[in-house]
Amino acid sequence: MKTTKRPVYFDYNATTPLHPSVFEAMRPYFVEEFGNPASLSHSYGWSANMAVEKARGQIASALHCQPKEVYFTSGATESNNLAILGLVTKLGDQGEQRGYDNSAPHLVTNQAEHKSVLEVFQFAQRRFGAEVTVIDPDRFGQVSLKSIQRAVKPNTRLISVMMANNEIGTINPIAEIGQWAKSQNILFHTDCAQSFGKLPIHVEDMAIDLLSLSGHKIYGPKGIGALFVRSENPTVELLPVLSGGTQEHGIRPGTLNVPGIVGLGAATVLALSDMNIESERLKELQKHLISGVLSQLPEASLNGHPTERLATNVSFSFRGLSADIFALGLNGLALSAGSACASGTSSPSHVLKAIGHSDRLARATVRLGLGRLTTFADIELAIDKIVEMVLKNRQISGG
Ligand code: PMP
Repeated sequence: MKTTKRPVYFDYNATTPLHPSVFEAMRPYFVEEFGNPASLSHSYGWSANMAVEKARGQIASALHCQPKEVYFTSGATESNNLAILGLVTKLGDQGEQRGYDNSAPHLVTNQAEHKSVLEVFQFAQRRFGAEVTVIDPDRFGQVSLKSIQRAVKPNTRLISVMMANNEIGTINPIAEIGQWAKSQNILFHTDCAQSFGKLPIHVEDMAIDLLSLSGHKIYGPKGIGALFVRSENPTVELLPVLSGGTQEHGIRPGTLNVPGIVGLGAATVLALSDMNIESERLKELQKHLISGVLSQLPEASLNGHPTERLATNVSFSFRGLSADIFALGLNGLALSAGSACASGTSSPSHVLKAIGHSDRLARATVRLGLGRLTTFADIELAIDKIVEMVLKNRQISGG
């Protein structure tokens, strides 16, 4: 049978392959250990329940929180929805119960967030009358504490700022924002889909009240994630988005995805076991890729922060490129265009627009995600292919 060579994978910000050791940890929970963790009247249920609680503990130690503060969800999209809508609806309920008409909380977020934050804020505004301020990040995609301080009002109840951006890799000053929010009695949510397992996270030191994470960005399975919800100092209360079950204290009803949860726990342990070594290795590769492209192409620029960035992300824009980057040919590299995070849409990325790119420059953008399987040779290949593509386009467009 003829097999075609697959392109080199450079899309680790979109998803990662399941690590074989994670798969091995999950395997029994598909087959022999198939019990429902809520069936506490027999050993099938006990075994599944023990596995779920072990994973909860693994995630709690990674975040430095209590296991009971970890709620399993289907991924960061759901965690973001639950955090924001769960809080807004709870605040609305509390306002009604106390008989005052102060049920319109003010919420603050930033333009470079993932759509699963931005669109939920819009929904909260439309459906629940929340007041929303979406601040602009700076030209590196970073959110400053000052810009948040300017946006805050007396009725601000929630600030949501992602720890690291999925398109341009910029890391935000989370501890600074979290500690200030705490001093103002404002709750703080952070989307850590891209940073969990890659950067050290400490919910106490960073004063985080709500935190979203995802399994498939850290060599775990797809369709599993978690939400951290602070239980004391302060106690954060959410209303569930779904109804009809008592699982996860009723905050996230539905039979638990046991193999997924076991996989998320195993992937978390794996990520933490060599986080520093892997991050140093990737930083070297990242440096090589950035200098390799920028030194050969004057029309290339690096998107995102020059130093405060994830080691797993490189995003370049090319001035003067005339067409959609993929129409120009980057065969052999599986990477993502700057047009949108979710492929299938052709509208220019809202993140690139938020850092001031024109539609045209946003379209002339590529994102390379680096990960565990990325080698030096892969980086060399990527540099060669990108340079070749841009040079060819220069000739075609006469530049
Ligand atoms: N937030 C960020 C920053 C992301 O990168 C992603 C994944 N693209 C999500 C949220 C959504 O995560 P999930 O795929 O687990 O729903």
